[in-house]
Amino acid sequence: MGTATPVAAGGDLVARSLAHVWHPCTQMKRHEAQPPVAIARAQGPWLYGSDGRRYLDGISSWWVNLFGHSHPHIKAALADQMERLDHVMLAGFTHAPVVELSERLSVLTGLGHAFYGSDGAAATEIALKMSAHYWRNTGRPGKSRFVGLAGGYHGETVGALAVTDIALFREAYAPLVRLAATVPSPDARAAAPGETPADVARRSAAALEAWLAEHHADTAALIVEPLVQCAAGMALHDPEYLRLARALCDRYEVHLVVDEIATGFGRTGSLFAHQQAGIRPDFICLSKGLTGGTLPLSAVLTTDTVYQAFYADEVARGFLHSHSYTGNPLACRAALATLELFDQLDALNANRALAERIDAACAPLARHPRVRHARRLGMVWAWDIETTLPDFSRRYHQQAMAHGLVLRPIGNTLYAMPPYVLDAEAINCLASGALDALNATLNEETC
Ligand SMILES: *Cc1c(COP(=O)(O)O)cnc(C)c1O
Repeated sequence: MGTATPVAAGGDLVARSLAHVWHPCTQMKRHEAQPPVAIARAQGPWLYGSDGRRYLDGISSWWVNLFGHSHPHIKAALADQMERLDHVMLAGFTHAPVVELSERLSVLTGLGHAFYGSDGAAATEIALKMSAHYWRNTGRPGKSRFVGLAGGYHGETVGALAVTDIALFREAYAPLVRLAATVPSPDARAAAPGETPADVARRSAAALEAWLAEHHADTAALIVEPLVQCAAGMALHDPEYLRLARALCDRYEVHLVVDEIATGFGRTGSLFAHQQAGIRPDFICLSKGLTGGTLPLSAVLTTDTVYQAFYADEVARGFLHSHSYTGNPLACRAALATLELFDQLDALNANRALAERIDAACAPLARHPRVRHARRLGMVWAWDIETTLPDFSRRYHQQAMAHGLVLRPIGNTLYAMPPYVLDAEAINCLASGALDALNATLNEETC
């Protein structure tokens, strides 16, 4: 710390980035018309561009940031950890941050065994492999297939794509992927007139039941994003679905994997989304907010029952999976500091009050004549926009950036997933910026 970091002018960085950096989830040619934005630093909910402009991080830098950028508590923990131990391999070694984090996660989830990776997709892979290997170790090697929800998103590595039901992400790789089955999503927007979200949940659970009745003998696990299918466009469902899915998984001897990579750490109002259904999953996948948005880290938590099925004299019955950075001490320390902030800031309660202020500020947006299904769960807001623009998402993103606001709609669903640290100025930037950008984008319909 304390040494100067290299600085480069924004325009220069953009040209150099386009020459040598292959950006994620991007058709690079699009950058000819709309270059990437160089960010020089970030503080709280604000990103500061190399061009001197400031942007509100309305989607928490792809859903990872919780307590704002450059939080002093997390920074201090990382600086302290850097002085002690940067990294050591976790095979044959252990260290305080990984032990303390695993203990904390065990207490918070009731699942006592934590396995680590670096990205969300790796957590998905670990959970799927562990589930199938569990059935193999318990004498049922035929249980090796998976089932997920329509529109589900669990990451984009080849294994994770098997359970990611988003055609655009999967098409080109279809020959590589051993596709999982999909059952209907309990998306509450599918309610028929007079139906409640719980009715939709029961109807979808009936479809799951029919599927499991036929296929349970070769199915290892059901994987779900609890309460919100984020990448599907913030599709919310009633907790009743999770209760019914848990009961069906028990009845048909299929593991329940909850992917809390996006929904974990207070995003849906409770520390973990599945807790709102009062269920205990067999596996929980965590990442994104786990380190407060500072360092890549993922974790898969599981039960004593699963753990014990691997505990044996034969090496091959063990879970022989690893990543070089498994359990990285810096990342684990950032995660511990993030969990400390939940206590220090009484974050879940504070978020309830903050969300009401954001609701009030966003009321004009929710009432906009082109908005359908205005909805919120915890610290997730979404509004479906009725528009004829085929590239609404790209255009809206551009307009929002012009208003100093980072929002990237998914299809025609505009959403906000801000850090938990918005003051009055930031709330106003989010609410009025989102509305102004919507009107500016819709104006392009007639151009
Ligand atoms: C983002 C996400 C993933 C993948 O995480 P990466 O770190 O991007 O690999 C998996 N599942 C869900 C629900 C996610 O939102």
